[in-house]
Amino acid sequence: MKFFERVEAALEKRHHHALTTRLRRLELLFASTKSTQIQEEWLKQRHIEEMGRFAMLQREIYIKEEVATRLKTSKSRLLTTEEETELRAWEDELEGFDRRYCLHKLVSYNLEHQMPKGPLIREWDALNRKREVLSRENEFRCAANGGCCKRGCGCCEKPLNSHREQGIYGHCSTECGCCARSRKYYGD
Ligand SMILES: [Zn+2]
Ligand SMILES: [Zn+2]
Ligand SMILES: [Zn+2]
Repeated sequence: MKFFERVEAALEKRHHHALTTRLRRLELLFASTKSTQIQEEWLKQRHIEEMGRFAMLQREIYIKEEVATRLKTSKSRLLTTEEETELRAWEDELEGFDRRYCLHKLVSYNLEHQMPKGPLIREWDALNRKREVLSRENEFRCAANGGCCKRGCGCCEKPLNSHREQGIYGHCSTECGCCARSRKYYGD
Protein backbone atom coordinates (compact mmCIF):
# COMPACT_ATOMS: atom_id res chain seq x y z
CA MET A 1 0.00 0.00 0.00
CA LYS A 2 2.98 2.28 0.38
CA PHE A 3 2.94 2.90 -3.38
CA PHE A 4 -0.69 4.08 -3.30
CA GLU A 5 0.00 6.38 -0.39
CA ARG A 6 2.80 8.06 -2.31
CA VAL A 7 0.63 8.58 -5.38
CA GLU A 8 -2.20 9.92 -3.21
CA ALA A 9 0.07 12.40 -1.50
CA ALA A 10 1.35 13.62 -4.86
CA LEU A 11 -2.19 14.05 -6.19
CA GLU A 12 -3.36 15.82 -3.05
CA LYS A 13 -0.47 18.19 -3.28
CA ARG A 14 -1.65 19.20 -6.74
CA HIS A 15 -5.22 19.53 -5.40
CA HIS A 16 -6.60 16.66 -7.49
CA HIS A 17 -9.06 15.75 -4.71
CA ALA A 18 -11.63 13.99 -6.89
CA LEU A 19 -8.96 11.87 -8.52
CA THR A 20 -7.46 10.96 -5.15
CA THR A 21 -10.89 9.85 -3.96
CA ARG A 22 -11.29 7.64 -7.04
CA LEU A 23 -7.87 6.13 -6.41
CA ARG A 24 -8.81 5.30 -2.81
CA ARG A 25 -11.98 3.54 -4.01
CA LEU A 26 -9.78 1.49 -6.33
CA GLU A 27 -7.42 0.63 -3.49
CA LEU A 28 -10.34 -0.79 -1.53
CA LEU A 29 -10.60 -3.53 -4.16
CA PHE A 30 -7.12 -4.65 -3.15
CA ALA A 31 -7.66 -4.36 0.58
CA SER A 32 -8.78 -7.43 2.53
CA THR A 33 -12.36 -7.60 3.78
CA LYS A 34 -11.09 -7.72 7.35
CA SER A 35 -9.01 -4.57 6.93
CA THR A 36 -11.98 -2.77 5.36
CA GLN A 37 -14.25 -3.91 8.20
CA ILE A 38 -11.81 -2.66 10.82
CA GLN A 39 -11.58 0.72 9.10
CA GLU A 40 -15.36 0.98 8.77
CA GLU A 41 -15.89 0.09 12.42
CA TRP A 42 -13.34 2.65 13.55
CA LEU A 43 -14.92 5.36 11.40
CA LYS A 44 -18.33 4.51 12.84
CA GLN A 45 -17.03 4.85 16.40
CA ARG A 46 -15.28 8.07 15.51
CA HIS A 47 -18.45 9.46 13.93
CA ILE A 48 -20.53 8.62 17.01
CA GLU A 49 -17.92 10.23 19.25
CA GLU A 50 -17.74 13.41 17.16
CA MET A 51 -21.50 13.79 16.96
CA GLY A 52 -21.72 13.35 20.72
CA ARG A 53 -19.05 15.91 21.38
CA PHE A 54 -20.61 18.43 19.00
CA ALA A 55 -24.06 18.02 20.54
CA MET A 56 -22.58 18.41 24.01
CA LEU A 57 -20.75 21.61 23.11
CA GLN A 58 -23.88 23.01 21.43
CA ARG A 59 -25.89 22.19 24.54
CA GLU A 60 -23.35 23.88 26.82
CA ILE A 61 -23.31 27.04 24.70
CA TYR A 62 -27.10 27.14 24.64
CA ILE A 63 -27.47 26.67 28.40
CA LYS A 64 -24.83 29.30 29.14
CA GLU A 65 -26.65 31.81 26.96
CA GLU A 66 -29.99 31.00 28.57
CA VAL A 67 -28.50 31.37 32.07
CA ALA A 68 -27.01 34.76 31.15
CA THR A 69 -30.36 35.97 29.78
CA ARG A 70 -32.23 34.70 32.85
CA LEU A 71 -29.77 36.39 35.21
CA LYS A 72 -30.20 39.62 33.32
CA THR A 73 -33.98 39.32 33.68
CA SER A 74 -33.59 38.72 37.42
CA LYS A 75 -31.95 42.12 37.73
CA SER A 76 -34.98 43.96 36.37
CA ARG A 77 -37.76 41.91 38.01
CA LEU A 78 -38.40 39.00 40.36
CA LEU A 79 -38.23 35.63 38.67
CA THR A 80 -41.23 33.34 38.88
CA THR A 81 -40.80 30.08 40.79
CA GLU A 82 -40.75 28.24 37.48
CA GLU A 83 -38.01 30.47 36.11
CA GLU A 84 -36.02 30.05 39.34
CA THR A 85 -36.28 26.26 39.19
CA GLU A 86 -35.27 26.22 35.54
CA LEU A 87 -32.28 28.46 36.28
CA ARG A 88 -31.10 26.14 39.11
CA ALA A 89 -31.44 23.12 36.82
CA TRP A 90 -29.36 24.83 34.13
CA GLU A 91 -26.68 25.80 36.63
CA ASP A 92 -26.53 22.22 37.91
CA GLU A 93 -26.25 20.93 34.38
CA LEU A 94 -23.44 23.36 33.58
CA GLU A 95 -21.41 21.98 36.47
CA GLY A 96 -21.46 18.54 34.89
CA PHE A 97 -19.90 19.60 31.59
CA ASP A 98 -16.27 19.50 32.75
CA ARG A 99 -16.61 15.84 33.62
CA ARG A 100 -18.61 15.01 30.48
CA TYR A 101 -16.08 16.75 28.29
CA CYS A 102 -13.20 14.95 29.99
CA LEU A 103 -14.86 11.59 29.27
CA HIS A 104 -15.26 12.51 25.62
CA LYS A 105 -11.62 13.55 25.43
CA LEU A 106 -10.60 10.20 26.86
CA VAL A 107 -12.67 8.25 24.33
CA SER A 108 -11.36 10.44 21.53
CA TYR A 109 -7.76 9.94 22.69
CA ASN A 110 -8.20 6.17 22.80
CA LEU A 111 -9.72 6.15 19.33
CA GLU A 112 -6.84 8.23 18.01
CA HIS A 113 -4.41 5.63 19.29
CA GLN A 114 -6.33 2.73 17.78
CA MET A 115 -6.66 4.37 14.38
CA PRO A 116 -6.20 1.67 11.73
CA LYS A 117 -4.36 2.33 8.48
CA GLY A 118 -6.00 2.19 5.08
CA PRO A 119 -7.60 4.05 2.19
CA LEU A 120 -10.90 4.64 4.03
CA ILE A 121 -9.08 6.26 6.91
CA ARG A 122 -7.01 8.44 4.59
CA GLU A 123 -10.17 9.44 2.75
CA TRP A 124 -11.80 10.45 6.02
CA ASP A 125 -8.71 12.40 6.98
CA ALA A 126 -8.65 14.26 3.66
CA LEU A 127 -12.35 15.09 3.86
CA ASN A 128 -11.84 16.48 7.34
CA ARG A 129 -9.10 18.71 6.06
CA LYS A 130 -11.27 19.99 3.24
CA ARG A 131 -13.96 20.91 5.73
CA GLU A 132 -16.30 18.46 4.14
CA VAL A 133 -18.65 19.49 6.89
CA LEU A 134 -19.51 22.53 4.81
CA SER A 135 -20.29 20.54 1.68
CA ARG A 136 -23.61 20.98 -0.13
CA GLU A 137 -24.62 17.44 0.76
CA ASN A 138 -24.27 18.05 4.48
CA GLU A 139 -26.00 21.40 4.12
CA PHE A 140 -28.99 19.73 2.47
CA ARG A 141 -29.09 17.05 5.16
CA CYS A 142 -29.08 19.70 7.91
CA ALA A 143 -31.84 21.67 6.15
CA ALA A 144 -33.92 18.52 5.67
CA ASN A 145 -33.65 17.84 9.42
CA GLY A 146 -34.95 21.33 10.13
CA GLY A 147 -31.52 22.64 11.20
CA CYS A 148 -30.04 26.11 10.83
CA CYS A 149 -29.23 25.51 7.15
CA LYS A 150 -32.99 25.60 6.54
CA ARG A 151 -33.36 29.07 8.04
CA GLY A 152 -30.38 30.86 6.57
CA CYS A 153 -29.20 32.16 9.96
CA GLY A 154 -25.69 31.09 8.98
CA CYS A 155 -24.86 29.25 12.23
CA CYS A 156 -23.31 26.22 10.50
CA GLU A 157 -20.90 28.36 8.48
CA LYS A 158 -19.30 29.63 11.67
CA PRO A 159 -17.17 27.60 14.09
CA LEU A 160 -18.69 26.77 17.48
CA ASN A 161 -18.18 29.53 19.98
CA SER A 162 -16.92 27.23 22.73
CA HIS A 163 -14.28 27.97 25.34
CA ARG A 164 -13.23 24.32 25.22
CA GLU A 165 -12.10 24.02 21.61
CA GLN A 166 -11.68 26.43 18.75
CA GLY A 167 -12.45 26.03 15.08
CA ILE A 168 -14.97 23.19 15.36
CA TYR A 169 -17.43 23.13 12.49
CA GLY A 170 -20.54 21.05 12.24
CA HIS A 171 -24.24 21.02 11.60
CA CYS A 172 -27.12 21.16 14.02
CA SER A 173 -27.64 18.40 16.53
CA THR A 174 -30.79 18.17 18.63
CA GLU A 175 -28.95 20.41 21.11
CA CYS A 176 -28.44 23.41 18.82
CA GLY A 177 -29.52 26.51 20.75
CA CYS A 178 -30.52 28.49 17.68
CA CYS A 179 -32.78 25.60 16.59
CA ALA A 180 -34.21 25.25 20.12
CA ARG A 181 -35.11 28.95 20.21
CA SER A 182 -36.60 28.81 16.75
CA ARG A 183 -38.76 25.83 17.82
CA LYS A 184 -39.89 27.79 20.87
CA TYR A 185 -40.91 30.84 18.86
CA TYR A 186 -42.35 29.24 15.78
CA GLY A 187 -43.32 25.81 17.12
CA ASP A 188 -41.85 23.87 14.22
ZN1 LIG B 1 -28.90 29.12 13.51
ZN1 LIG C 1 -29.26 24.90 14.50
ZN1 LIG D 1 -26.43 23.25 9.11
